[in-house]
Parts: sequence; structure tokens; C-alpha cells
Amino acid sequence: MSKKKIKEIFIGSNNRGKLKEIGDLLPNNLNLYSNLDYKIPSPIETGSSFYENSLLKAKYFSKKTKKICMSDDSGIEIDILDKKPGVYSADWAGKKRNFDLAIKKVYREISKKDKNWKKKRITARFICVLTIFWPNGTFVSKTGMIEGRISASKKGKRGFGYDPIFIPNGKKLTFGEMKPEKKYRIDHRYNAFRKIKKFF
Ligand code: IMP
Repeated sequence: MSKKKIKEIFIGSNNRGKLKEIGDLLPNNLNLYSNLDYKIPSPIETGSSFYENSLLKAKYFSKKTKKICMSDDSGIEIDILDKKPGVYSADWAGKKRNFDLAIKKVYREISKKDKNWKKKRITARFICVLTIFWPNGTFVSKTGMIEGRISASKKGKRGFGYDPIFIPNGKKLTFGEMKPEKKYRIDHRYNAFRKIKKFF
């Protein structure tokens, strides 16, 4: 890892929701590259943890672009589902990444465990591991989390992925109902980013 402040970085993600959020976290004076310009296919996420997949993606994109790269691996863990979908959060949305389907699956799976779940507190958390990978092979990975619960119904059209069904602790609104500026200041990605901010 380099002590020099990073002046340009490639964001290794093909997920527009993540790209927007990471772009908003980074300082304005940074030269930002992403797959919106390069169109590099995503690697197959063969890791069994957020850490492994985050590192695998950052390394892959750095090797392809010869640039310093940052990747995110994230997902939602639902306790009653034995922490599923976890690293498979994107997969539950199918090949077309349809999150209406993924959310239906979450509700179906929770109902199978407990028919009365809507009257209960279904605890869950978003987890994010951000990795910065330098072309000389060094890297840094940091984890961020936010604890919360699953909403009894889908609410809000903002955000992406599982945002409409996640209510962070201490709040009444789902991430899907919250203004992006509010979500970006408390979520798992921000909590991971705070730990690597010093490199920018
Ligand atoms: P992956 O990191 O590319 O494997 O994808 C993680 C998946 O987790 C995403 O496709 C989203 O569905 C979900 N996810 C991660 N972070 C968030 C978030 O901030 N809001 C909603 N869903 C998220």
C-alpha cells in the first residue's frame, strides 16, 4: 500500500446503485474511472465471504486496468434465514437482477420459517467490504455494517436492491424511502469507507 494520496481510481463494479453511492462518497477532486467507460465484464464471484469476493474483484479490475482499483462486496444477512441471502444477495435477484423477485423470495422464505413474522422483529444487517488494490499487489480491505430489521411490506422507490425492505435501527423509514443523502451517511458502505478515507 502506498502512503501517497490516491489521485485516480477505478471503481470495479457493474452495479449502478453502488457506483453512484461510491462516487458520492469519494472526494470531488479525484479522477474517477468505472466500468461505465471500460465495459470490463465482472469476474465470477467464487469466494465464500464478502472479504474474499471484494478482494477478488479489486485485484481482477486492477490487473485489467493497471490502475488502483476499489471494489465493494456487500449484501444483506437475515437472521431468521440463517444469515441468507448473505454473499448470494445479488443471485437471489436472478440473472436479470430483478429485485422485485429477490424481495418476494425473502418474504416467501421468512414466511416458511414463521407465518406470524409480520408481528415480530426480523433482525437483519447490511454488510460491505471495500477493498483498494494497488497495481504493485498491495491492498487494504475494510468492513462496514448497519443493523436493522425487515419491513413487513416493501416501501419506497429510492435506492436499489433490498433498500425498500430494510429499516435501520433507530429509524422508521426503509432505505428505499430515505433521501439518498441520509442513507449514504449511515449505511454499511459509509461505515466501511470511513476506515479507508485516509487514502484519499
Ligand atoms: P455483489 O456485492 O455484487 O455480490 O452484490 C451485492 C448485492 O447486495 C447487491 O446486488 C444488492 O442487491 C445488495 N446490496 C448491497 N448493498 C446494498 C444497499 O446498500 N442497498 C440495497 N441492497 C444492497
